[in-house]
Amino acid sequence: MPAARESTTRIALIYPELLGTYGDGGNALVLTQRLRWRGIAAEVVSVPAGEPVPAGCDIYLLGGGEDEPQTLAAEGLRRNNSIERAVAGGAAVLAVCAGYQVIGQSFPAGGKIHDGLGLLGVETRRSFDPPDAPLPPRVVGDIALDPDPSLRLPLVLGYENHGGRTRPLPGARGVPFGKVRIGLGNGIPEGTDGLVEGTVLGTYLHGPVLAQNPAVADLLLTWVHGPLPALPGPPEVDALRAARARALQIA
Ligand code: GLN
Repeated sequence: MPAARESTTRIALIYPELLGTYGDGGNALVLTQRLRWRGIAAEVVSVPAGEPVPAGCDIYLLGGGEDEPQTLAAEGLRRNNSIERAVAGGAAVLAVCAGYQVIGQSFPAGGKIHDGLGLLGVETRRSFDPPDAPLPPRVVGDIALDPDPSLRLPLVLGYENHGGRTRPLPGARGVPFGKVRIGLGNGIPEGTDGLVEGTVLGTYLHGPVLAQNPAVADLLLTWVHGPLPALPGPPEVDALRAARARALQIA
């Protein structure tokens, strides 16, 4: 069982001006709403760039962004290790795209390789092909995953928009978020997306991913709360998921 936590669940939205380009801030709304529907108090703690990241939150959200803002975000986050300390105390992290790259060991931007937080055992490069091979194109489009069976999730839907390719480091713990059914994801021969290590989930899926996949929101919430009462739907989201699956011809 996770340690008993404060009565109001605090969801930290990290540097939304830098890591908010793709609407991933919506993940905070989904988490708070799914808690409130269950009668659990929840609060979004928006952390502007330049402000210290509080260590006492329950869930930390990092979204996608362009290369330069992503580099600034990594520099800011490396100034203190609040997220790492929070995770050691049982907090959860959802990091999407640029956020996923930033919490890994290293990522490319502006022709250089930058240090990430090392919270997740992955590294990102523009390509893992031989240096003389042409750079692979940016990937933009729908993505659908068959989640790792250990996560007990239904099909995961989203979209991706990235130039980086991401692979686990040798000896990395954890499981891929899922096997790619449509799209690219990590862009490595294993055909996987993301990595889940303990209570840290990194993925290339925008959407925002939790709005299209309430079961993933509930997975993060159970990591910090323990088992929660089942909460169906909502029906609009079920309809959205069915429509997306039909559009992708995977219904
Ligand atoms: N800048 C990163 C890349 O292009 C991440 C992009 C994003 O967050 N959508 O790979």
